[in-house]
Amino acid sequence: MSIESITLPLWYDLHVHLRQGQSMQAYVNAHISMGCAGLLAMPNTKPPVGKIHQKDSLPYWSIEEYRSMILTAGGDKFDVLLTPLYLTGDTSGDMIKSGVGSGLLQAAKYYPPHGTTNADHGRPLESFMSNGVLAAMEEMGVILCVHGEEHGLSGESYFGKNSNAEDYFYRERMPRLRDKFPKLKIVCEHITTKTAADFVAQSDNNIGATITPQHLMFTVADLLQGLKYHLYCLPLVKFEEDREALLSAVNSDKNTKFFAGTDSAPHTTKATECGCAAGCFTGGVAPQLYIQSFDLKKGQGVFEAFLCHNGAAFYNLPAPQKTFTLIKKSQEVCAVPTPDGAVMPLPLGLGQKSLEWSVLL
Ligand SMILES: [Zn+2]
Repeated sequence: MSIESITLPLWYDLHVHLRQGQSMQAYVNAHISMGCAGLLAMPNTKPPVGKIHQKDSLPYWSIEEYRSMILTAGGDKFDVLLTPLYLTGDTSGDMIKSGVGSGLLQAAKYYPPHGTTNADHGRPLESFMSNGVLAAMEEMGVILCVHGEEHGLSGESYFGKNSNAEDYFYRERMPRLRDKFPKLKIVCEHITTKTAADFVAQSDNNIGATITPQHLMFTVADLLQGLKYHLYCLPLVKFEEDREALLSAVNSDKNTKFFAGTDSAPHTTKATECGCAAGCFTGGVAPQLYIQSFDLKKGQGVFEAFLCHNGAAFYNLPAPQKTFTLIKKSQEVCAVPTPDGAVMPLPLGLGQKSLEWSVLL
């Protein structure tokens, strides 16, 4: 008999873009509407969240300021709000230590230079391996969130038949990072390849990974057929072999390392004549999408571990007491109005006006 309804604890989305400004409230509400008890808000804002305190004299937003913006936009309804630091050329080991001392710093994000939306302040991974930043993070127990793509590649090595920017990064960079800082806790963000899934599975429990709904559901063929630019995100959706590796990682009853992080990224203007903004918006629809990639025949345990427990355990977050229910009943998908314009949730951008599952709070 197939499962028709599942009751789960509220969950944490451990990779979200809330951006900045007047539309944040709509994005926060979209997350609350899908049973989120909290989230990790990525720091690639304009300007980036690159310092700890407002009074620090660097030309960035501080964690202090960004937290207060999110809380004012309705984030005070969350049990947990994680706000990582953006690692820039100005980040130092001392900044990490004082951030931990102030209670504001739990995690920091590595962006490859110019690798994705607002990643212009990123620096090569090597620089943080040698300048004391990662050493301080390892010593102080600060979690490193990694956008794992090699920067500066082009053509066949960026996205080719036999390798791509993520595949290269997980073969060449990550083993060295892991070996140099064996106690550093690392989240491999939004992994998309078999190479990355294998790397995480073969590493010890200090290394976990987030996986988005779209990378479990789609391949590059889905993006290309009809040029469905709403599916354009970075890292790009990959091949069927990669998708299968992700599906088997999350569907394993031994999975403790792979967890939900939607990388939900709102763009009011997705495509222009000059190109396409990277990112899929899955606020309001993520659990309904995620559940489609799980084999529920053996019960809800594996799905619940991925959505609700593994990430909370990795970040040492409290277990939410409230619950929500997913029901196998169709739910309409609507554009989300914001003061900056409407944002299309991914299914709608792909022409899908309803979901197979609905959320009941
Ligand atoms: Zn992201």
